[in-house]
This record gives sequence, structure tokens and C-alpha cells, in this order.
Amino acid sequence: LILTGAVFSQNVSCSETKFMLDTYVTLTARGFNAKKAVSECFDEIKNFEQKSSVYISDSEISRLNETGENTLSDELLRLVSNAKIYTSETDGAFDITVKPLADLWNIKNFTRVPTEAEIAETMPKIGADNIEISENSVRLKNGAQIDLGGAAKGYLADKCAQIMQKHRVKSAICDLGGNIYALGEKNIKIGLQNPNGARGEYFGYIEGKNISVVTSGGYERFAELDGKKYIHIISPLNGKCAESDVASASIIGKSSEKCDAFATAVCVLGVEKGLEIVRAEDGIECVIADKNGCVYTSGNVNFKITDENFTRGN
Ligand code: ADP
Ligand code: MG
Ligand code: MG
Repeated sequence: LILTGAVFSQNVSCSETKFMLDTYVTLTARGFNAKKAVSECFDEIKNFEQKSSVYISDSEISRLNETGENTLSDELLRLVSNAKIYTSETDGAFDITVKPLADLWNIKNFTRVPTEAEIAETMPKIGADNIEISENSVRLKNGAQIDLGGAAKGYLADKCAQIMQKHRVKSAICDLGGNIYALGEKNIKIGLQNPNGARGEYFGYIEGKNISVVTSGGYERFAELDGKKYIHIISPLNGKCAESDVASASIIGKSSEKCDAFATAVCVLGVEKGLEIVRAEDGIECVIADKNGCVYTSGNVNFKITDENFTRGN
């Protein structure tokens, strides 16, 4: 009798959506421990958000930003030191020290365009070199402040995938606001959001298993000021909202954290330079749609266009 129960439970599935990390997080799992795994993932996300969010005033990161020095828990230290590596791998396009610029632009509410003088005044605070790590403490120089928003969802997607695997679920899809991690024996199709379409409309799909796909773009979080569009991704190189030819950048790989960082970076750098930095890295591939509907891939990607308004650029 135990056997029938166990066989039946293999198909138990659990799917839950919660608003967290300022987005919708949907975790789906199938298998005996699905429910337990999903709930442990949500706990993990909540704990990490409490520690890392710049929008929570007593988070470890907020206290670091306020005082310029703080001891951080091991996982935050690891993320901050990885972020410094991503900065060099992306030629400065991904940089967690963008926070003073994000504040200046008020990327959550966008009320006005800052002046050139204000941007110039803020620029000395920007740069991953302003982050000094020694043992478990971090010091910020030159008035720098950090914001992990460009990699936190990727980091947590990896975390969730690990938790799912620990519980030996048969398959799982972790979707943290479009940062996907897909686990299981079978290939699945992961649709890429059409940057010009309604939410849920895709322009093509990637097929794979046990991979992460992370998409960034200016189509969801942006504002229009004086007839011009401003997006929530900042170029640390010139202090302005990213204005490249990229409409959406999807990065595919085993490390969702790295995918997240590179997705943001490609939006800053544009198609040509974006392809270059992705090709220079092991373990990641990309699908980039430009603003004219041309789609570029880095090479080894199982990607298919399904929307006739998009064409292949390479
Ligand atoms: P999403 O908000 O969908 O996760 P991204 O992964 O592209 O999109 O991250 C954008 C967030 O990252 C912004 O809200 C901001 O907090 C931060 N950010 C903006 N520009 C950069 C940048 N050039 N490098 C690192 N982080 C950035
Ligand atoms: Mg990102
Ligand atoms: Mg992100």
C-alpha cells in the first residue's frame, strides 16, 4: 500500500505565484516533494530580499550604503564579488554601483530628466573599483552605493533550482519575473516575450532543459518624459538610461546569476558589442532582438522565431 501512495505522489505538482522582488514569482514543481520544495524556495527568496534590497531600510545592503562600510553575510559577499567580475567581463556595462545614478534618474518613478551637471557630479561615485572587499567586510569609496537589482533575481533563480534539486523533484520551472530556470528530463520550450507585444506574447522560443533563460529589456519598466523613452537600465559608462539598439536581450546558461548580469549589460552595450561579450564568455549564449525586429544569436542556441514581424539578423 505504501507503493501505490508513492507512485501516485510522484505526479503531485505544485504551482504558486507571489509578488516578491517587485515582480511576480511563479514556482512550479512536480514530484513527491514538490510542495515542500516550492515553499522552501519562497522562504529563501523572502530571506534574501530582506538582506539585499535597497528598498528595505535595514537590509545589510542599505546599511552598507548608508555608512559606507558593513560586514556582509557570506552569500551577499559572494554576489558582490561576482558582480565585480561581471563588471570587467562586460567592459563596465554591468555595474552594481549604478545606485546613485538610479536614484538621480529615480528609475522607479521617473519624474524628470536630470541635468548634465547633475550627472557629471554623480559619475565619480560610479565604478566597481569603488567597492573594496576584505574578508567579510565591504567598504565603499568615493560615496559609492550599490544596488543588486540587476542580478538578484538571477542569483535567486539558481538558489531555487538548487533547492528543487535537493528535494529531488521530477521537474520544475522557477520564474522570477522572467528570470527562468527550467529543470527536468524533458526539453521544454521557453517563449521570449515580444518586446513590442502584450505581456505573454512571444516572438520565438528556446528549447532546452536544465538551463536558465534571462531576459532584460526596456519594454516593461520605462517612462516617457517630453516625448522620449527612458528605461530602468542605466549605462554606467555615460550616466544615462540605456539607449542602445537592443529591444530585448535573452541570455541562456547554467548560471542564472551570470545570465541576469549579462542580459542587463547587453541592453547597455547594444547588439554588436553585446554579441561580442557573450561570445567571449564560456557557458552563456544569447538571443538579442533589436528595435527593428532583427534577431541575433551568439551561435549555439536552439532558437526558433514564431512571429512573422521578426527576422533573423545573423
Ligand atoms: P529586471 O529589473 O527585470 O531584473 P535587469 O536585470 O536588467 O531587469 O535589472 C535592472 C535593475 O538593475 C534596475 O532596476 C537597477 O536596479 C539595476 N541596474 C540598472 N542598470 C544597471 C547596470 N548597468 N548594471 C547593474 N545594475 C543595473
Ligand atoms: Mg539583469
Ligand atoms: Mg534582472
